Amino acid sequence: MTDILVLTDHDGAAPKKVATQLLTAARGLADDAAALLLGEGAQGAAEKVGAYGAATAYVCDAPEVDAHDTEPKTAALLAALEASGASVVLYPAEPFASDVVARAAARVGGGVIGDVSDLAREGEGIVATKQIFGGDMTSRCTVRPGLPAFLGVKPNAFAASEVGGSPADVVPLDVAFDERATRVRVVEVVEESSGGRPEMTEASMIVTGGRGLGDAEGFALIEELADALGAAVGASRAATDAGWYPHQHQIGQTGKTVAPQLYLGAGVSGAIQHRAGMQTSQRIIAINKDPEAPIFSIADLGVVGDLYKVIPPLIEEVRKRAS
Ligand SMILES: Cc1cc2nc3c(=O)[nH]c(=O)nc-3n(C[C@H](O)[C@H](O)[C@H](O)COP(=O)(O)OP(=O)(O)OC[C@H]3O[C@@H](n4cnc5c(N)ncnc54)[C@H](O)[C@@H]3O)c2cc1C
Repeated sequence: MTDILVLTDHDGAAPKKVATQLLTAARGLADDAAALLLGEGAQGAAEKVGAYGAATAYVCDAPEVDAHDTEPKTAALLAALEASGASVVLYPAEPFASDVVARAAARVGGGVIGDVSDLAREGEGIVATKQIFGGDMTSRCTVRPGLPAFLGVKPNAFAASEVGGSPADVVPLDVAFDERATRVRVVEVVEESSGGRPEMTEASMIVTGGRGLGDAEGFALIEELADALGAAVGASRAATDAGWYPHQHQIGQTGKTVAPQLYLGAGVSGAIQHRAGMQTSQRIIAINKDPEAPIFSIADLGVVGDLYKVIPPLIEEVRKRAS
């Protein structure tokens, strides 16, 4: 029996980066946290969660989980809560997990705290910290012991680390799916095209374009640099709102939180709402023609100049070194 259960996303073979971060966060709260893995490949991925400290991995890879929408996953989550005895669920603060959790929480009368950026034990309870009002204020929410609570942790809020622990005890869940669980069937899954680039929250390098590009066509240069580096492409909200790049690439308070080894921002001013989504990147490079741009205050390396003059020779240099 544990009090922490981690909704562990995986790619069919191993836990995803965000899941390894959540498992690491769970380790700070309990040394016997459990993981829940759903869908095809869950069994194989479950064997890898012990490395991040999970003591038990509950698995539900019944075909219904992938063939139907949110409900079978909700049923499996409720079954895992019962089997594990957990009262606190950590889940990635991402749309699909949030949908599953909202249903589960409503059914057990639990509370949900979204966009958590830090977690700590305080006495018998857990304190979940989140930024509110555009990052101007910090809210600390105490979860009292025993109450069902669902805590949505922001991707990249925690750095993942392995403990090299023994494999988790893998426990198959026998979930009964009623008519409600299988009412909505998935008929087609359309993979978002990323142009062969890595997914932003998983990438080790991100090249980001902002309003300073001047127009949508400017993103061709950002993509060219990203491809030379093997990086993902990010965008500021000004750029996505202008329709220059898809919204799912937006970084920031109302976009994605990223923490790559290298973030390069070109024509991005570094507004507080943008910084909220990238300031924990390990190395930050900024290219901006305004020496007073706020992004320079957090940059490890700043280039004051016109991005259209700075980036082409940079691409050439990167390609030269890669060949
Ligand atoms: C509630 C709320 C939530 C928000 N959430 C987000 C969010 O999630 N993410 C986000 O990004 N923003 C967010 N914003 C918007 C944010 O406040 C800024 O407006 C936005 O980040 C600005 O984007 P930008 O840096 O691309 O544009 P600007 O602030 O206009 O900056 C453009 C920069 O490009 C530079 N530049 C211009 N031409 C060149 C050139 N040729 N070469 C080099 N540099 C050049 C300029 O000097 C300038 O610094 C939010 C705002 C609010 C109110």
